[in-house]
Amino acid sequence: MRIEQDIKLDFKDVLIRPKRSTLTSRSEVDISRDYVFPYSRKTYHGIPIIAANMDTIGTFAMARALARHTLSTALHKHYGEAELLDFFTALPKDAAIFYSMGITKPDFDKFRRVMDSADGTIGHVCVDVANGYTKAFIRFIHQIRGEFPAITLMAGNVVTGEMTEELILGGVDIVKVGIGPGSVCTTRKVAGVGYPQLSAIIECADAAHGLRGLICADGGCTSPGDLAKAFGAGADFVMLGGMLAGHDECAAEIVEVDGQRKMRFYGMSSREAMNKYAGGVAGHRASEGKEVLLDYRGPLENTLQDILGGVRSACTYVGARKLKELSKRTTFVRVTQQLNEVFGTA
Ligand code: 5GP
Repeated sequence: MRIEQDIKLDFKDVLIRPKRSTLTSRSEVDISRDYVFPYSRKTYHGIPIIAANMDTIGTFAMARALARHTLSTALHKHYGEAELLDFFTALPKDAAIFYSMGITKPDFDKFRRVMDSADGTIGHVCVDVANGYTKAFIRFIHQIRGEFPAITLMAGNVVTGEMTEELILGGVDIVKVGIGPGSVCTTRKVAGVGYPQLSAIIECADAAHGLRGLICADGGCTSPGDLAKAFGAGADFVMLGGMLAGHDECAAEIVEVDGQRKMRFYGMSSREAMNKYAGGVAGHRASEGKEVLLDYRGPLENTLQDILGGVRSACTYVGARKLKELSKRTTFVRVTQQLNEVFGTA
């Protein structure tokens, strides 16, 4: 047994220190980014926020709504082949919308069939496993990169520099970072495993950027300020689940509870998701996600303006004219308190 004595940090442990700047208004700030992916060699331009590949969040409706503002979506993996083909063939060719998959043989067989028929319309793929530390996952990454050299490949999840390097050396363009921080994730409770998300981002971004790779910070953002901290810590992309939940674009019914309109939201390893897709929780495993009922929030548009406005505001406070400059201009201060909650927590 060993103990790492360094304190690792979460979003709630820091604030971004303001810096002198000549910027006068948020409207002067450009929060889009341009990247060239290291393996696919494709160029990317957009606001680097991605809707999570959860079945309520990574929907076609979400993808269309976010694409209007140049944000991305990782579609969930439960769509059928015909509907995926219809969706992708109607998209502009370079839209960064990710086809998602796990690492089972049926996942790969389905992907090969879809790619055969997709006529080059699928350019971005997200390979998602709860635990990116297994040999089977690494083997899969080598196999998919070998067969599909031109796809932009995002894969994870991991939380440490050495696995980030291994994935990038194995052919991944964007390493997905986060184990346990998600809003409906219970891995930390069930398994006692995880890593504070801000430190995971800092360490994995450092490892990735040294190899010209990119990272996507996945999970744990609860407010626009958390996205600003993730970008400030070096994230190239940020993935959101809970912050996009409860909207019209989600695949969830509105239910009435005591006269209030609510929407269901659950983790992809929750009992609810496993009952829906896997015929229940398999005997040898525990559910690692939960279900919550959220207030219904209407169309995504207003929430989206809040999120983008928050990131722009952070840039203004540190004098970053472009999102690209945010991490260079970020100094975090460690804090013991974030908010004044005398009138509530909202
Ligand atoms: P959020 O933005 O809601 O905090 O986090 C979203 C992320 O939580 C997803 O992208 C995914 O990585 C993770 N996640 C989703 N469902 C589950 C689950 O059931 N268990 C765990 N451990 N993580 C989940």
